[in-house]
Parts: sequence; C-alpha cells; structure tokens
Amino acid sequence: MNEIERKDKQYVWHPFAQMKEWVANPQMVIEAGEGVKLIDTEGNSYYDGVSSLWVNMHGHRKQEIDQAIIDQLGKIAHTTMLGLASVPASEFAEQLIQIAPAGLKKVFYSDDGSTAVEVAIKMAYQYWQHIGQPNKQKFITLAQAYHGDTLGTVSVGGIDVFHRIFKPLLFETIQVPSPSCYHCGACSENCGMACLAALEKVLAEQHDEIAAMVIEPLVQAAAGMLMQPQGYIRGVRDLTKKYNVLLIVDEVATGFGRTGKMFACEHEQVEPDLMTVSKGITAGYLPLAATFTTQAIYDAFLGEYSDYKTFYHGHSYTGNPLACAAGLANLEVFRKEQVIEGLTSKVEIIRQGLEKFKQVPHVGDVRQCGMIAAVELMQDVAGKIPFKPEQRTAAKVCLTARKYGIIIRNIGDVIVFMPPLASTTAEINDMIDRIYRALQEVVG
Ligand SMILES: *Cc1c(COP(=O)(O)O)cnc(C)c1O
Repeated sequence: MNEIERKDKQYVWHPFAQMKEWVANPQMVIEAGEGVKLIDTEGNSYYDGVSSLWVNMHGHRKQEIDQAIIDQLGKIAHTTMLGLASVPASEFAEQLIQIAPAGLKKVFYSDDGSTAVEVAIKMAYQYWQHIGQPNKQKFITLAQAYHGDTLGTVSVGGIDVFHRIFKPLLFETIQVPSPSCYHCGACSENCGMACLAALEKVLAEQHDEIAAMVIEPLVQAAAGMLMQPQGYIRGVRDLTKKYNVLLIVDEVATGFGRTGKMFACEHEQVEPDLMTVSKGITAGYLPLAATFTTQAIYDAFLGEYSDYKTFYHGHSYTGNPLACAAGLANLEVFRKEQVIEGLTSKVEIIRQGLEKFKQVPHVGDVRQCGMIAAVELMQDVAGKIPFKPEQRTAAKVCLTARKYGIIIRNIGDVIVFMPPLASTTAEINDMIDRIYRALQEVVG
C-alpha cells in the first residue's frame, strides 16, 4: 500500500461506499489524466469508461478549458452573487439560455445536481403560493427516481436501498410507474404506454393539489440506465400541460450531449417549465449547476420588497467564476469541434459494439440511448430472475475490467458504459472489447 492509499484509508470517508470493504481491499489512486485516460500513482493508465461518473465530456486536460480557468484565475477566483454580478456568470447564463429548450429564460445557479433539483422543487412550490393556488403542493415522481442526495431530492427519489432509511424525514410524493419497458411488463408484448395512462389517472384525480412532476427525460440514470419508450416524455409534457401541473425536467445526467443531442428534451421537442443541469456543465472540471425557468415562473416572484416574494435561497459558491469560465470554454468546444454533430457515428459504433453482448450467458438486456450504454445481467435470462445482490456479479465484471485497462462502474447488476463524448470510434471499439473480455471472464 503506498502512502497516499494509507492516508485515504485513514482519513477519508467515500461516497456510496461500504468503508469496511473499502479499507480491506486494495484501492486505486488516480494522480493524472490525459484525454480519455486516467493514470494511477503506479503509472498505469486506464480508459475513463464512465466519464468520471458521467461528468467528463471532452477528455481530461482539455487545453481550451485548462486555459480558460487559468485566465480567470488571473482575474479573480471567486466573488459572491449575493448582491454582486460577475462577468463569467452573466456571459455563461446568456449562452446557456441560447442553447436551452425554448421557453426557458432565466438561470439560477447552484453547485451540484442535488441543489439544482432542490431549487426547482422550492421554486415550483413557491410559484403556486404566489399566484393564488396555494393548494398545489404535491409532487409526482417516477418509481426508481433519483434526483440527488439532499433530503428534498431524496423525497422525490424512489430508490429503496438509498432512500428507505430516511423516510420519516421526507415529504410525501405521488409515485407513478417507471416507464422502463424491460422491467415493466404492464403492456405484455407491445408497449401501449400503460405508464402514461397511470400518470393521467393521477393527474385527473389530484391535479388541484399537484405543484409539479419531476422527471429524468429518456433515461433514469442512477436507477440503472432505465430507458423510456419513444413518445413517453412528449406524453408527459402534454398531460402536465393539460392538467396545469409544472414539469421539472432533470437533465443533470442527460444534458450536454449525453443522449446524442444537447439536451434530452430536444428528442421529443419538449419545453419544460423548469430544467436542471449539472454533471456535464463544466465538462467535468468544476462543480456547478443551474436551474432554468420560464419567464412566467420568474415573474410570479416579482413584487415590492414588503411582499416577501423573494426566492430566499443561495449558496456560498453560487455561480463561481472559475466554474462559469470552465462552462463557457465547454460550450466553446462544443461549437468549435461540432461535438454534437460528431456523435452520430460514435453512437452507431456503440450500437454495433454492443451486439455481441447479447449472446453472452446471463445478459438479460442491452440498451442504449446516445452515448449511454447499459448491459443488465440476470441469473436466469428467460425468467428475468436477477442474481442475488450479495453475489455482486456486475461489480465483479467492473473490477475485472480494470485488469484489461478500463474503469467502469456498475449500478446493481447493470454494467454502465458512458465514455467521454470526445472518445474516437477506435477508442470506443477498444473500450467495448475490454469490457467484453471482462464480462466473458466473469459470466461467460
Ligand atoms: C447525479 C444526478 C443528480 C445529483 O447530482 P449531484 O451533483 O451528485 O448532486 C441529480 N439528478 C440526476 C438525474 C443525476 O444523475
């Protein structure tokens, strides 16, 4: 064990980690990165097969983003947005609104995905108070939802292992079925979107009490990359509009090119009332998040000081200038390198590469949405009977993949592959081959 690993094990408590197991096992320490590779303290290099937990877009040490942060450091690292405006935060807000779905006009900054969703929930709630419909207080969420780890976002979450224990601390929500065809079974052979019918039933009966629906569009990421049938998010938008319920679209995972378009909403021309972004916003460089909202919601908060309609929410590092400078450089790279246009061939290479996984024993489902791919393992594929969680089957595949030079991370028995958008088609093929070898070794 090297000195750094010893210090880590002595002092650091890791997120989503059973620390007893962490401390008992050898752990990799990352010291550097270059392009789509991570380099550990032993000098070994590995593909970053999950984009450093879905945040990295253009690879590591991207010259333009490095330089933008250095340039901003030459001016100022941080200044508060409470009572002051800043150059990068203003410039970045303008550019964000230019690329956001139509109808979104204002940017409220915060620091991470959880805070962005927390802000959206509070805004939606307060909005109805201001416009004279104070009974609209409830939120609709999807089963298996994940929107972050703060108590507000855990309230709108639905992942039992993470959220169960905090139940007494949470506010109640109305949960509707997760629209994941592989797991659903409600429509037998052909998807007739029974999930949408279930949503409409809730809306028809309770819309007078419902403030908003919170949803990840196209892909429920942390739930295990659950993918929605085509037309679902469009249907959700139409129904929420029909029943006068706000739609909060959480694009923290899907935003900034992940699904093949800049935002997942664009696939079905969805114009949400509120939208949250974070992970890809600085291309994986610095923590930053934004909650976008419409003019109508913004206007509902306007009034005299004495009306107390202010949105009383903010964070110490809200709109951090270094992070906004990184965000501006991120968008510049998207434009200059025509990143979105370049994704079409990469998405196709992933699709072809995944084909061979379908023949591997214990592979229950292979699914893809743009640059997001997932392979779900089953003990019994025909009966859709999962492995016992304690067998940690997918986790073993991911650990084995390190031997073959790629870092990936599972969610339960779902193996996730989410390479940086900058990965070349050759790199993508190479990454997929390495994952395939690891999978063969564990379950083949
Ligand atoms: C990761 C994620 C969050 C939480 O973001 P953090 O930055 O980890 O707080 C919220 N929503 C979605 C869809 C996410 O994928």
